[in-house]
Amino acid sequence: MPNGKTHDMLTVVTGVIGIPVVWGLLPDHNLAATLTWCGAHIVSGIAFSPDLDLASTPYKRWGPLRIIWYPYRQLIGHRDWVSHSLVFGPLIRLGYFLLMSALLIWLFLTGLSQLIPISGARWSGAFWRSVGDLWTDHRATVVIFLIGFITGGAVHSIADWLSSSSEPNHRSLRKSWRKRRRRDDDEWGIW
Ligand SMILES: [Zn+2]
Repeated sequence: MPNGKTHDMLTVVTGVIGIPVVWGLLPDHNLAATLTWCGAHIVSGIAFSPDLDLASTPYKRWGPLRIIWYPYRQLIGHRDWVSHSLVFGPLIRLGYFLLMSALLIWLFLTGLSQLIPISGARWSGAFWRSVGDLWTDHRATVVIFLIGFITGGAVHSIADWLSSSSEPNHRSLRKSWRKRRRRDDDEWGIW
């Protein structure tokens, strides 16, 4: 199974190789759209990795903000379809991240409203209206971003599948990962 560094390298290499491919495939050869794809691909693979379902390097990379991914890591088994499926995995992570971010911002603003006159509900409403406007006004950019986000996660999942299928003994492999997860959990406590 590829380790974190190998996954990072695969993400960056496929992101760079993908630039001429995506540019060539786009009917208008739009470079801005191509770079949007590349950015989303790399961000998805490095920061929104499928291995956020584990106390992995990408999970630790979030620093104090890994609190956002703690429920995700607890609820989803390692290499479950929710995290490692090609299309749904990255999209679920993006939706989950938006929801958790909105919740944390709402909690922060609600706390702040005790000190200064500010409306958490109004700011949250404005945030979701902005997300809606993005879809209405810049749909093509959003679509190419989502495609990049999906390919960034898919490269990871495909690498996992390929390396697992070439391993002679699946069962012992799974067992060693379970042990590793338990050890990581111990190291990181609730985080
Ligand atoms: Zn993985």
